Amino acid sequence: MAETTPIETTPENLTLPARTIPLDRLEMSRLVQLDGCVRCGECLNWCPVYDHDAREDILPRRKILDFLHIVKTQQSLLNAVIKSEMTPEFARWFLRKIFRRREIREDEVRSFVLNLYECSTCGQCQVVCPANIDTVNLWENIRELMVSAGYGPLEPQKTLAKSVKSYDNPWQQPRQGRVKWARRAKKEELISELPPEIKKTKSKILLFFGCTAVYDLNIRQIAIDTVNVFKILDIDYGCLGENEKCCGSVLLRMGDPEYERIASDNIKLLNDLSIETLVTSCSGCFKTIKEDYPKVGKLNFEVLHTVEFLHRLIEQKKLKFEVPVEKVITYHDPCHLGRASGIFDEPRAVIHAIPGLELLEMPRHGPYSRCCGAGGGLKAGFPDLQNKMAQARIKEAEQTGAQELVSACPFCYAGLQGGIGALNSPLVMRDMTHLVISALKKGE
Ligand code: SF4
Ligand code: SF4
Repeated sequence: MAETTPIETTPENLTLPARTIPLDRLEMSRLVQLDGCVRCGECLNWCPVYDHDAREDILPRRKILDFLHIVKTQQSLLNAVIKSEMTPEFARWFLRKIFRRREIREDEVRSFVLNLYECSTCGQCQVVCPANIDTVNLWENIRELMVSAGYGPLEPQKTLAKSVKSYDNPWQQPRQGRVKWARRAKKEELISELPPEIKKTKSKILLFFGCTAVYDLNIRQIAIDTVNVFKILDIDYGCLGENEKCCGSVLLRMGDPEYERIASDNIKLLNDLSIETLVTSCSGCFKTIKEDYPKVGKLNFEVLHTVEFLHRLIEQKKLKFEVPVEKVITYHDPCHLGRASGIFDEPRAVIHAIPGLELLEMPRHGPYSRCCGAGGGLKAGFPDLQNKMAQARIKEAEQTGAQELVSACPFCYAGLQGGIGALNSPLVMRDMTHLVISALKKGE
């Protein structure tokens, strides 16, 4: 949105966008945070999207300003304030402070929405923001309002959303195809038996595969390696088989309110299993179930990423790697596992527990890990941009001198694999589960 001089207007001469944005659904804390941006521009130095599309309009500080302009045109702001728990004095001050309205045009709103979706919700701006603005939840919350008003998601992202609603997976695949990978892997002798169904085993541990590792043939190795690791370690577990459904992460990230129904159905399904632990190798499922589901309903089990689960076994001295893996690797922290959930040490501890393995860190790692662009609906909405982001990450990985690039998420795996292909890089993409199976099984 181009810089414009604010015009003081009254509600009577205000030009409203064609559709009303339901601001009463915006959490009041978000409105307060919008006012907290000090325009310092620190987010500019770190945003991985800005590296490839250097427009001020996509930066957090500009999106915040533009959204504030939209907010000021909306009568529903008043409703939101009335519904809040602010004291009358604070509400009066708050409205005076942010109600310096100016006109806004429909095309400005649409342009704002485009910029809002040109973001992988990677959370880097949140880590570096000196005003501590909770940007990821802010973007997701604003996207939800825009979807409710009919402005989002973007056209290419709608296929993902429709597929989750129609087929319980984002990849337009039939429900019954969810277990096809396992039958095929068994036939090819990549696994010795089909993953057991929890309704038969009644186990206390549920292995939740997620949609990407089971539907994408290029990624199924993650599911195969996870099952083989569990088999070798003799873990008493079960899985949901055809009854597993998408966790709804893509809907939540893109702001689709249907996420709440999906989360609520899944919470009921999972709670009824009477499990103690849900384990998943997908960072997107992990973050969504662990961090986001509790905002919809209480979980009666703990949620662990596979790397945490394995790390716990190492700490309990129930797992010791005997087979050396003579490789030099670098590790890419998935945004959902690292920045969003704070799991930085566990994957590195698992790596260090494997004899022979050498880890070389990229300059940007841990909380500053550069996003590969695969999440937040960015890959669907802006595939070329995502590929450029992946290539930038691959170049960083190459500069370490590592032979293999390791991550812990099927989404990152697919996103980074695209970067390797585009650059014709000699780097080999791996998931953490592959390292683990290699350290457990001779000849892997
Ligand atoms: S880093 Fe935070 S305070 Fe600074 S401009 Fe960006 S959003 Fe605003
Ligand atoms: S979440 Fe990531 S991609 Fe989005 S604005 Fe912040 S730094 Fe940029």
